[in-house]
Amino acid sequence: MPLSLYNTLGRKIETFTPINEGKVGFYGCGPTVYNYAHIGNLRAYVTHDILVRTLRRFGYEVTHVMNVTDVGHLSGDDDTGDDKMVKSAEERGKSVLEVAAYYTEAFFNDTGRLRIQRPDIVCKATEHIADMVALIKRIEAAGYTYSSGGNLYFDIAKFPRYGELGGPKPDEQKLQSRTELDGNKRNQGDFVLWFTRSKFENQALTWDSPWGRGYPGWHIECSAMSMKYLGEQFDIHSGGIDHIQIHHTNEIAQSEAGTGKHPWVRYWVHNEFLVLDKDKMSKSGGSFITLQDLVEAGFDPLDYRYFLLGGHYRNQIKFSVDSLTGAQNARKSLLSNLRSIDEKSKGAGGGAVSTEAAPTSLAARVHIEAFDAALQDDLNTPRALSALWGLVKDGGVPPKAALEAAFQMGEVLGLDLEGSLHSVAPGGMDRAEVEALVAERAGAKAAKNFARADEIRGALKARGVILEDGPEGTVWRYG
Ligand code: AMP
Ligand code: ZN
Repeated sequence: MPLSLYNTLGRKIETFTPINEGKVGFYGCGPTVYNYAHIGNLRAYVTHDILVRTLRRFGYEVTHVMNVTDVGHLSGDDDTGDDKMVKSAEERGKSVLEVAAYYTEAFFNDTGRLRIQRPDIVCKATEHIADMVALIKRIEAAGYTYSSGGNLYFDIAKFPRYGELGGPKPDEQKLQSRTELDGNKRNQGDFVLWFTRSKFENQALTWDSPWGRGYPGWHIECSAMSMKYLGEQFDIHSGGIDHIQIHHTNEIAQSEAGTGKHPWVRYWVHNEFLVLDKDKMSKSGGSFITLQDLVEAGFDPLDYRYFLLGGHYRNQIKFSVDSLTGAQNARKSLLSNLRSIDEKSKGAGGGAVSTEAAPTSLAARVHIEAFDAALQDDLNTPRALSALWGLVKDGGVPPKAALEAAFQMGEVLGLDLEGSLHSVAPGGMDRAEVEALVAERAGAKAAKNFARADEIRGALKARGVILEDGPEGTVWRYG
């Protein structure tokens, strides 16, 4: 059975066929690093991760690229509002680059705790200004731009396919009647490629360009960086559904205008939102929940991952502590089922279980096939979880084969079943306790309280937990 994905471009399920056989170029929009990621943002990255792990499961060689936005993103995606990075730096009394460095590290600390694999290429906007300028020059040479009020704009009227991704073109009347009109725009749907004078005289970071000293609009970074690393046409692009109408629509217009090639991206994959009651969660709005909040409330980051996998990525998920507790209990019960299978496999002279050997048991194969079919059906993780449960509950599968199959499934779902199975340290600490201390130590390090950081490392070591600091944050294991 081939892998099928829902393609926002065209709004239907399609069989996935990459441009180059066996290889996939994938770009997922990354974080704007002006604050911690909230658990809604993290849903987007869990979705990217499931997509990548599924593609790899089916033998594709994937190049996963993700940007880190550290310049140019305004609170309105359509060039309105404050500059998120500048505002955050002012509020915190730090430089933009300090804020970016701090929240980038915090982001990878969160994604690491959620067992989200680090993308193959992580690229910062501020390190790719020359690539953006080069692309803007091509767009300009192709006749799609105009200068107004010192800024360079993309003229959407020149691009007849504008809006194909997000359905109807933006309602011009509605746009024109908004309170915050940009008088420099011919059409309120036009967007800035390069800012010089219209806004933010206090912009912290500026660069020279053919249009004057200034800084890029937000959308251009994703076009320039994705094409730099994946080529002028590539396979999959993703992000949350909020990006369809403006950000991704603008990315397509400027990329295809610049290269003259169509389609720029073959498959567009968008995750629905995680919502709190009736409201969407936003980093710039009032209350938002971080992964650390969940850890402090006694949850393991993998409880949250399990919770997310219980919903299909194209359905909205409502977050509540009750439903997260349900996921926590389900994960505990899964692990305790696996522990008894483990015991049985040892009792049956099974010895150590290797994840490398393919299960030979026919009884296990039925469940693996159901699991694979679920993921091939537009990444249906709820059904994949049911297949995992079906396996675990099937007394007819020999224990060793059952464990091997479960570990394979756990690998694709990123649930670290093998590690979690033996997840009580000799000192009696469970994962949630360890995670809380690891997070406290990251906070101590960030505040340069190295004495406390060392104290925590020592205390964990005494209870059988070893820490290793690496580029993706701190990873830990039971020693
Ligand atoms: P940002 O850092 O604001 O650019 O957002 C990072 C990613 O999170 C983007 O792909 C957004 O579409 C996505 N996102 C934002 N809020 C939510 C939410 N509540 N649920 C799911 N995804 C979200
Ligand atoms: Zn983007």
